[in-house]
Amino acid sequence: MAVPKSKVTKSKRNMRRAHDALVASNPAECSNCGELKRPHHVCGACGHYDAREVIASTEEIDLDEEAA
Ligand SMILES: [Zn+2]
Repeated sequence: MAVPKSKVTKSKRNMRRAHDALVASNPAECSNCGELKRPHHVCGACGHYDAREVIASTEEIDLDEEAA
């Protein structure tokens, strides 16, 4: 097993961890429904992207009718 040659000091450990912080997301308003969505992602509320519906909304799919 590889063994560290010397102890990592608090200073070096903390310097390494200086870049570990999580960055908050920057949500943008959907141009179709106004819901907050991730930039460059399909809107989770209405399925639109770039003012175009790319994912059919669940209201339009009738699963019971298909199963019968
Ligand atoms: Zn939307």
